[in-house]
Amino acid sequence: MRKYILPEGEIPKRWLNIVPLLPEPLEPPLDPETKEPISPEKLSVIFPEPLIEQEVSDKEWIDIPEEVLNILSLWRPTPLHRAKNLEEYLQTPAKIFYKNESVSPPGSHKPNTAVAQAYYNKISGVRRLTTETGAGQWGSALSFATQFFDIECRVYMVRVSYEQKPYRRILMETWKGEVIPSPSPNTNAGRQFYEKDPNHPGSLGIAISEAIEEAATREDTKYSLGSVLNHVLLHQTVIGLEAKRQMEEAGFYPDVVIGAVGGGSNFAGLSFPFMADKLRGDKPNLKVLAVEPSACPTLTKGEYRYDFGDTVGLTPLIKMYTLGHDFVPPPIHAGGLRYHGDAPLVCKLYDLGYIDAVAYKQTEVFEAALTFARTEGIVPAPESSHAIKAAIDEALRCKETGEEKVILFNLSGHGYFDLSAYDKYLRGELEDS
Ligand SMILES: *Cc1c(COP(=O)(O)O)cnc(C)c1O
Repeated sequence: MRKYILPEGEIPKRWLNIVPLLPEPLEPPLDPETKEPISPEKLSVIFPEPLIEQEVSDKEWIDIPEEVLNILSLWRPTPLHRAKNLEEYLQTPAKIFYKNESVSPPGSHKPNTAVAQAYYNKISGVRRLTTETGAGQWGSALSFATQFFDIECRVYMVRVSYEQKPYRRILMETWKGEVIPSPSPNTNAGRQFYEKDPNHPGSLGIAISEAIEEAATREDTKYSLGSVLNHVLLHQTVIGLEAKRQMEEAGFYPDVVIGAVGGGSNFAGLSFPFMADKLRGDKPNLKVLAVEPSACPTLTKGEYRYDFGDTVGLTPLIKMYTLGHDFVPPPIHAGGLRYHGDAPLVCKLYDLGYIDAVAYKQTEVFEAALTFARTEGIVPAPESSHAIKAAIDEALRCKETGEEKVILFNLSGHGYFDLSAYDKYLRGELEDS
């Protein structure tokens, strides 16, 4: 079989919360003024009550509301594929599987949480949401999701992506999102960069500062984050819960689970339901591999400490691997992976040795992307191609050793809005960073 497809009725009805399974508790986010754990009241300025509850929940399973399931069923369950053509091309004894999150209307895993967040904001009486977007995937996911709940959506888009990817902007506008290049003159946070350089390339950190400032200063507006936070990782576990059932159907349990890491949400979404088995002691040898760009090597080169989630310092302090909140990564084509930090849950498990990490240069990542496009057919997102590169390397190691490992990776999105990056690579103009 090449594909494992679950019937619509088998969309998971509950999210898996990894928090109660952790070997030691997470360090709480701190109020930068007092250095004490942040109070829920302070968080409620920018997030609605039900999401704050999920953020700090220690319940292992959380029910998915009917209204959310209803919209997820527009594209879920997503297929699990066996990459047989890729296996044959590599001549590896390994078995390669991938979960295909590119089939959602916005083209990535991100609507899994966008729909849930839009729903909880709606039932909390919120009328507008602000957010940031790097490559444009999160902005399109939130624009897509908010329109189902009659919520207005304003997206601060990192300027370099705004310029490189006009089609993502058009997609957001098609779904009624309003898109503003960041840094912008709209906010205090943006103005300090904009006035120095109106062509400032921007960063996710600056765009986050702009979106948070607007949410904090408007009564009718809250803020929405597409990665990093516990509740976002929670919503993404539908990926791994489905994948687990599909792998069972295929008759295999993975030896290696791989995901690209920007903030950590698609990686956690696929891997945490398997990680739960490892944390319970049932699968001690499971390898869980996080892949990042060498231009933004958060896990492999960052420090594990408290830092701000944004550039300006408006967010609580979060304990995570970080390159420093003022780190501005070079404009690489995997815009979705240009974040200075990572999800605290991913960082904790990495710190405790439950997760491995590896970094790749964008030229080797695009080489893997082309191999995938020319064997499996789907043109992968540059972000997802980091996971592909790692899967190919694992499979090539199996070729040397003769091991028949089962490799599972997350195809977090497609690359049909990234063709200009492919064009550069094909012409040999891509920077080797
Ligand atoms: C946003 C994005 C990522 C990175 O974000 P995570 O939160 O780490 O998942 C990876 N792949 C795609 C396709 C994305 O859109």
